[in-house]
Amino acid sequence: MTLGCALSGLVPNATDPARRTVAVMGTWLHAEVAAPGGPSASAALEAAIAEVERMDALLGTWDPSAPLSRANRAPVGTPTPVPAEAAALLAEARGWAARTGGAFEPALGALVDAWGLRGGGRIPDADELALALRRVGAGAVRVDPDAATLTRLQDGAWVDTGGFGKGAALRSAADTLRARGVSRAFLDLGGQVLVLAAPGEAPWRVAVAHPALRQDTATLLLLRDVSAATSGNSERGSSVGGTAVGHILDPRGGAPAPWWGSVTVVSADPFVADVLSTALYVLGPEAGLAWARDLPDVGVLFLVETSDGLEAVHNQAMERWLDAPPPSAGTSHSRPERRLP
Ligand code: AMP
Ligand code: MG
Repeated sequence: MTLGCALSGLVPNATDPARRTVAVMGTWLHAEVAAPGGPSASAALEAAIAEVERMDALLGTWDPSAPLSRANRAPVGTPTPVPAEAAALLAEARGWAARTGGAFEPALGALVDAWGLRGGGRIPDADELALALRRVGAGAVRVDPDAATLTRLQDGAWVDTGGFGKGAALRSAADTLRARGVSRAFLDLGGQVLVLAAPGEAPWRVAVAHPALRQDTATLLLLRDVSAATSGNSERGSSVGGTAVGHILDPRGGAPAPWWGSVTVVSADPFVADVLSTALYVLGPEAGLAWARDLPDVGVLFLVETSDGLEAVHNQAMERWLDAPPPSAGTSHSRPERRLP
């Protein structure tokens, strides 16, 4: 589908965009960039992709040789040097733990292990769960951004960057694109999008998928110069003996957050969108909406599955990005340009 294809008055773009899809961060990055003149668009596209790949290497915890993977295995009590940028991002992520009442917590590796989330999933017994919970949070891992070190404070404790890595990467990619004078671009990194559109340019129309019927569009958003992230426990959740083990954990009680739908967060800062979509999924639609109600610049949309269909609730800030009335199950819309899971 072409950039700015004519849907509901969206104007076509003057220049052909550069486009590429690459595997990165355990998902796909679909990127397209329009810039005045073709060559600069492709150079900017490559620079943005390289930036996402750099952040993957910086923040990844799957590759055993990655800097954070090493720090995650270092002896307890020993400050381990990590790249300064990684330490700063980890400290920023940990800052959100306090602000979200512990709903967001990157130092939750012990729980990831207890539930076997990096394998096929497993159900821990009560003792294992209690032990893992003691190995989570501020008392489990210390991040010192000034010294650029990470210190494991407990056996079995480690940091998982999965809740904010994409947001960090898209923030960096946005900086790279803007520094190259790009005003129009669309990056989709496995469920989180970055949308650049200058004033006067058409916004991007992005579909938010129905949380259970993924091919159906629940809501349409009109976005420019923001990022939108969706979190839900359906996509990668596995089932162990009939019990759903979703990939989003509630670090407060230790269990996977229950399935209820999805939450989409729109923010000018991709990092904030990523952190808050995970946090608000954990908080759930009621506590989450109460928490997000008065945020002035962050749009929050909960899609809640009920016995009567899909219920959409959002904070006031979200209104400026909504392109359609709240959905009812089975509603069909005109075809969107892009889609969020
Ligand atoms: P997202 O898809 O952005 O909601 O992030 C989900 C990923 O973040 C999971 O796959 C875990 O790696 C990690 N994660 C799970 N639960 C949490 C949480 N409560 N706080 C921070 N990160 C989490
Ligand atoms: Mg997230």
